[in-house]
Order: sequence, then C-alpha cells, then structure tokens
Amino acid sequence: MLLYVHVPFCRRKCGYCAFHSEVPKGDAVQVYVDGLLREIALWGDRLGNAPVRTIFFGGGTPSMLPARAISVIMDRIRKAFALDGAAEVSLEANPESVASMDYMQTLLDSGVNRLSMGFQSLDPATLKLLGRPHSVRDAIRTFELARTMGFANINLDFIWGLPNQRLKLWLDDLRAIVKLGPDHLSCYGLTVEECTPLEQDVLQGRIHLPDDGEQGKMFVYGADYLESQGYLQYEVSNFARMGFQCRHNLGYWEGEDYLGLGPAAVSTLFGRRWTNPTELAEYTRSVDERTIGHEGETLTLMERVQELVMLRLRTTRGLRVKAYRELTGRDFLKDNKSLIHALHRNQLVRIRNGYLSLTRNGLLVSNAILERFFSEMDALGIGQAPDAVAADRPPEGTGA
Ligand code: SF4
Repeated sequence: MLLYVHVPFCRRKCGYCAFHSEVPKGDAVQVYVDGLLREIALWGDRLGNAPVRTIFFGGGTPSMLPARAISVIMDRIRKAFALDGAAEVSLEANPESVASMDYMQTLLDSGVNRLSMGFQSLDPATLKLLGRPHSVRDAIRTFELARTMGFANINLDFIWGLPNQRLKLWLDDLRAIVKLGPDHLSCYGLTVEECTPLEQDVLQGRIHLPDDGEQGKMFVYGADYLESQGYLQYEVSNFARMGFQCRHNLGYWEGEDYLGLGPAAVSTLFGRRWTNPTELAEYTRSVDERTIGHEGETLTLMERVQELVMLRLRTTRGLRVKAYRELTGRDFLKDNKSLIHALHRNQLVRIRNGYLSLTRNGLLVSNAILERFFSEMDALGIGQAPDAVAADRPPEGTGA
C-alpha cells in the first residue's frame, strides 16, 4: 500500500494555485498534527499493521511543519503500519522553508529519503509574478545544502508555458537545471485554474501566455533536451535519471491501493474511494468520532476502466492490453481499431510488447486522445453493465 499525507498549509497562496491549502492561524498546525496522529493510529487498528512501501508528504507545503513534528509522524506511522525497510519517503518542500542544516538533519534522521522542492522557475521576475515565497538564490542554495547534508534523491518541480516565456528561455532554464544535477524533474505545463488570481490576470489581459504552438515546442524540445542529458521521460510531466523514478507516483499510476491521511486527502482501498473532510475542525471531529473513511463510493467498472486507460496512457510505458482485457473481458485494440489506426498513421501512438503507448507528440495532446478513447468506450457501452468476467475480479491493485 502507498501512504499519502496531506499537509494543508502554505506560507502564502501562490497566484496560480488551486490546491487545498491555507495560511495557518493560531494553533492550527498543532491541531492538525494531533488529529493526524490519531488518524494514523485509527487506520493502523483498522488495517491491522498493513504493509506500506512508500510515503509521500504532499500539500500544501509539508516543510511548513516543524521538523520535530515530521519525526513524530514518522514514528507513529512505523507503529501503525509495517513500513518496508527500503521504503521511499518523499517530502515536498518550498526552498525557503527547509533551508537549515538542523531541519534537514531531522528529516534525514526521521527517514525522509527523497526531497521534492518547488523551484517552478529560474527567472526572478517570473517567481515574483507567480507569488512564490522564495528567490532563485534561495532555491539554489537550498538544493546545494540538501546535497551536502546527504539527500541522494532530489526532485525539482518546474513550470513551463509561463507568462512571457519563450522556447529559448525554457531551454536556457533547463540547461541551468541540468547543471545543478537533480535526480528527478517534474515539469508541468502551466494550467490556468478557475477562481485564481492568475485567471483574473489572464482574462483581463494583464498577463499573456505563450500560444499553443510555442507551448507545444517547449514540451517536445524540452523533453528531447532532458532525454539527451540522461533524464528519461516516464510520465507526461516526469523525468528521472536511471533508477530515480518516483516509486510512489508510479504505484499510483499503476493502480495500487493508497491511503490518504489528513484534511482533503483522497484514498482508494479495496475498490472504494473517499475524500477526507477539507475543514480542519470537521476533519478532527470525524477522526475522533471514528467516522473518517465511512463515506465513499465503490468504484464502478466504468470508473475503473477509465482510470486504467487514463493513468496508464500518461506513462511512457503505456497501457498493458492484457490489463484491459482482465478488467473488461474485451480487446482494447479491436474495440478502438479505427481510432488507433488513425493515431498510428499520425505517429501519435505505438504498440510494443503488448503495450499501447503515446509517442511524445501523442503525450502533448494526451487529453484530446483520451477523450476520443472515452467516447469510443461510451459508444460501445463498456463498463455500463458489468459483465461476468469483470464482476468476478478484484479491484485494481487490491492486495498490493
Ligand atoms: S506553495 Fe504550492 S501548494 Fe502552496 S500555494 Fe504555492 S503552489 Fe499552492
């Protein structure tokens, strides 16, 4: 099983962000940590010391928590679950909030072995425009400190398609990033989320984003450059040096069960999915009343099939045709024969060793391709009336 710990706090809200997070007030951090510790113990009882092979502290900004709190949370997790001795333990951090030797040493001592830092850009003006709380110098200094302190697995997050960014600027950033030498890179295309300050700036013409053609070049040429430097693309937004793929995210994309802890965290276990209450007070109440995880839904066959196709086609390995057959009793290649032929003619998909995957150009337009697959599946009625084959099978990832 994979464990996800959601930390819903940030120092301030970035102008483009739609994740659940808030600037903590009063004793909110302590209330959160106490509630989280009780939730961990509760799930430990319910799941009977279940095996855990990865932990991911995400947010929000997990490094807003005192290092001591992370250490106590890790101890509680070890008591409640059978944590694999070689577990990958990732923690997301903003460069300014993790930048002390004591803080990093406590993280290392508590078992955090993968640091994921949100750099986002190497352009000072862009960082300001995005409302990021750190400078380029802070970020680089923190990266170097993390290496010196002994973090051997570091991811850096970047965004492309930023206001006023052109292909050359993005490639210049990538060259500087590669020189730093992180082990893993997550490069996300900027999404203009509803109800964010960024959306207002774009709608009112105060900010101009690169057009689709320029963004397409950033995606394709950026990925080509990273691969030429030894960072292999293994998912639409993720690149890693050999042996440094994120095991937690890979497990998620491959349909493994995951337990989400903390406010607003999502879980999928034994074919059921639920979301924890978002508000801190409601979250701690549902932990204390032991009702957390009681609400939720059993995933329908349609949802499971769509997730299988969507998550696997975002990875460069692709969809194992046999996995689709095991879930639906049908042949994906035959079901989508003419669409796959058309995509193949346009060099957007490839079929290799029983896997159908998107090419780099295919990944660029993956959302449009997925929509086409889903409408074909709709037309065929796949998943609408569970057939005997599918109904008899355990949910994806059960028992992992
Ligand atoms: S630090 Fe991350 S989670 Fe927090 S507001 Fe900024 S983008 Fe959102």
